[in-house]
Amino acid sequence: MSLGTSFGRVSSNQSVRQESSRSLIYLARGRIASMSRAFHTLESAKLPDWLPPWLKRPSKQYALGLFPTPIHRWNPPGIPEDVEFWIKRDDLTGMQLSGNKVRKLEFLIAEAMAQGADTLITIGGIQSNHCRATAVAARYAGLDCHLILRNSRQAAENDPGMVGNLLIDRMTGAHIHQVTKEEYAKVGGKKLGEQLEQQLKAQGRKPYVIPVGGSDSIGTFGYLAATQEILDQAGKEAFTDIINACGSGGTTAGLALGNALSGMGATIHAYGVCDDEDYFYDFIDGLYRELEATPDRIGKDARAMLVAHQAKGAGYAISKPEEMQTVIDVAQTTGIIFDSTYSGKAFHALREDIKADPGYWKGRKVLYIHTGGLFGLYSEASELQKQLEVKEKSHRLVVAAE
Ligand SMILES: *Cc1c(COP(=O)(O)O)cnc(C)c1O
Repeated sequence: MSLGTSFGRVSSNQSVRQESSRSLIYLARGRIASMSRAFHTLESAKLPDWLPPWLKRPSKQYALGLFPTPIHRWNPPGIPEDVEFWIKRDDLTGMQLSGNKVRKLEFLIAEAMAQGADTLITIGGIQSNHCRATAVAARYAGLDCHLILRNSRQAAENDPGMVGNLLIDRMTGAHIHQVTKEEYAKVGGKKLGEQLEQQLKAQGRKPYVIPVGGSDSIGTFGYLAATQEILDQAGKEAFTDIINACGSGGTTAGLALGNALSGMGATIHAYGVCDDEDYFYDFIDGLYRELEATPDRIGKDARAMLVAHQAKGAGYAISKPEEMQTVIDVAQTTGIIFDSTYSGKAFHALREDIKADPGYWKGRKVLYIHTGGLFGLYSEASELQKQLEVKEKSHRLVVAAE
């Protein structure tokens, strides 16, 4: 029975509809299956057709994310009415596997599998969203996972607990190796990854190392592919400005290269939550060199392809009360929940920039990419709580006697 005819018959006849509720379920399933792609499977990489032939590219992709993520109009507090504001919900790329890292991991996990790896190693801060996403994706793909997590000197000597992302890391059975911030600064993430790789190899494992944030040349394809998704969703009325929170640089690198190669014509704004502007320009140029997307080929370098802004504030993963307040105000007026390390901090800085230069933003069609980070918020619950309680304390319900 074909989908079209049975659908027509069912909807035109109420009694048939009741009798065949079972087949309606089957129909719905068939429809869902035909509309979405296979999940948790290795497939040929689906790359935009505007990628130039000389670009070094991955051949496979491991389907992990729920794509396309929605784009919708959004009117957050403090954005002038003459700015047309939209949000792309990359916080909805999955549940435990939420956020922007899923897009990069689709290509990185495929590469690990192609190399015959049985174990993933990756690196990040103690509440790293990237490490949590990698821990989940590893299990989905049947791989073991080792995380090198950076913590303060004193905390690194003790068990890191189970708050926020750590609960998911540990629920999925990731092996946790703590290093101090001093060790990380001295040895560097790359070398630490290599050291653990050697140790695991000596135990007979086949590890694949994913760099900090999944931001290498392979990871860049996550947001190169996302650029096509944005083009499809925007239709004829292109966005003039696309904004993302920038931490390890791979999201911005993919968007800016996608923007340049596809001719999308937007201005890409990266709001850095660590390091400084020059660091990101140079890091992204380095990624482009690895991809052989050098200025002689694309006509420009990172400094001409994106605008890096500073959103670091008091420091990486340290929030000022006003940044926390922005996260609270956005949630209370629009229901969107940002984290205060990335998406909330970047949005706070963007709002300050719009306030400082309303002329630039007037009449523009802006897309804010919500890069996720919900679980990290749990690790800041106590600070948030203090500010939330000022707004409204909880109430004791007055219960009437029966
Ligand atoms: C990692 C992360 C970012 C930054 O993305 P990069 O590609 O590392 O620059 C932004 N938001 C959230 C929630 C993240 O976890």
